[in-house]
Amino acid sequence: MKKLIIRKIEELEKWRQSLKSSINFIPTMGNLHDGHQKLISTAKSSNSNTNLVSIFVNPLQFDSKADLQSYPKTFDKDIEIAFSTGADAIFIPNTIDIFPPNNKNIIYLKASKELSSALCGLTREGHFDGVCTVVYRFIKLIQPKNLYLGEKDWQQLLILKNLIEEKKIKINIVSVPTQRDSDGVPFSSRNKLLSKKDRKILQFFSNELIHSKKVFKKNKKIDLKQITERLDSKNISIEYLEHLNPYNLKKVQEEDNISILAGAINCGKTRLIDHVFLMKRNPIIAIDGPAGSGKSTITKLIAKELNLLYLDTGAMYRALSWLFIKEKIDYSKESELNKILKNVSIIFKSYAHSHQDVFINNFCVTEEIRSQEISSIVSKISSIKEIREFLVTEQRKIGESGGLVAEGRDIGTTVFPYAELKIYLTASIDERAKRRKSDKKSKDSQDIEFNKLKELIKKRDFEDSNRKISPLMKANDAIEIITDGYSINEVVDQIIDLYNDKIPKEIQMQ
Ligand code: C5P
Repeated sequence: MKKLIIRKIEELEKWRQSLKSSINFIPTMGNLHDGHQKLISTAKSSNSNTNLVSIFVNPLQFDSKADLQSYPKTFDKDIEIAFSTGADAIFIPNTIDIFPPNNKNIIYLKASKELSSALCGLTREGHFDGVCTVVYRFIKLIQPKNLYLGEKDWQQLLILKNLIEEKKIKINIVSVPTQRDSDGVPFSSRNKLLSKKDRKILQFFSNELIHSKKVFKKNKKIDLKQITERLDSKNISIEYLEHLNPYNLKKVQEEDNISILAGAINCGKTRLIDHVFLMKRNPIIAIDGPAGSGKSTITKLIAKELNLLYLDTGAMYRALSWLFIKEKIDYSKESELNKILKNVSIIFKSYAHSHQDVFINNFCVTEEIRSQEISSIVSKISSIKEIREFLVTEQRKIGESGGLVAEGRDIGTTVFPYAELKIYLTASIDERAKRRKSDKKSKDSQDIEFNKLKELIKKRDFEDSNRKISPLMKANDAIEIITDGYSINEVVDQIIDLYNDKIPKEIQMQ
């Protein structure tokens, strides 16, 4: 494809209509560096869409004229860099074309009040309104399928996600982790404005944040006062230094697993921002739902795709049921149960191709636990308090350091109530019975007549949803996905998109 430079809105419109593929849009203010290059190369490598880079220094997002005037402008070099990194077209409009004076069609937007009243929003009045206005204008003109944004400007990313959701725009935001130079400093166009001395200051600040991240990993704590004192000892002028919940930008709470340590400093005349994400444990995905909703297949594929541990909690209840039958244990004698459970060990062994074996007291029971005999007693066994307490403790041990996707009935409500992403998967009874019939591994469903199978599934749903302790239900903050009519891959992709939307890439790469 011919590389194209577009300057006028009419040219852009013509070009857009001539395209046969969708557009990946990478908005920039120019002075391209490695951070921008990463956005362009990510867009290029993630699909075969047409990549459009815009270079536009948006006057609406500068709160001072001097800052706008001094913002580095290097158009010729930018064009060279953008094309050589993978741009198919570059849009370089004039301010007058993007914001024609007295044009009533231009919508001037306000950024989310909540999100823009923290961090940079406190001192840069109107900045995020300007960002929202320009990005909305570009999206309307370009109509891209994907929008590539850097996590370096995390608050901006949150505000733009909020805008897209509020305006119900059909666009997929792909975030790219902060790119750092070899001295730890994040790439930024404003770095060009720094003297050697200023750069050293910024380097100290960024490395202080990176160091805090390492300390937090070990101690699960940070001391803002201590960090401030260290920065003060180098005479660094701090505008803010905050430890916040990374999604609502409010003060961090005890239960927040992921948090953000963000700061802004002034180096000479230049204001610079940097942040790191802190994490107590790796992220957890909780998937709950009734029998036959597709949980196991989908959870296994997600584990493989995201390189997470796969935890099938149903298999643990089934394995216990198997042991009780084999050893003829009378599980109705609840007082005896704790003694018996003390000597139970359930372990999983994972192999390539997502296969997993379940062992109870060293017996491999992977196949046997899928029998109708087990399916018919497991709900009863799983309603016993001692059994639930025992297995929930085991499950929490497995998930202690996170990095897993767990499926069951009470994962989002009881086992991992602070999971980063909670999904409630379901489907109609007919659909679930059909799936069970066609699943050769569901040995409990093969020899049963269809209507009888539906009745058995309904009975198990009833028992699971009506037991006293942690019944099957959708957690308040779970996202419900009704899988009727969707292929497995469509559901998997939907959950992976939700995960990518929630978990910063910087964290996913650790
Ligand atoms: O998912 P699966 O069909 O293998 O689960 C078997 C049974 O184990 C469920 O019907 C339910 O009674 C029980 N279970 C539970 N809590 C979980 C997972 C499974 O009570 N977290």
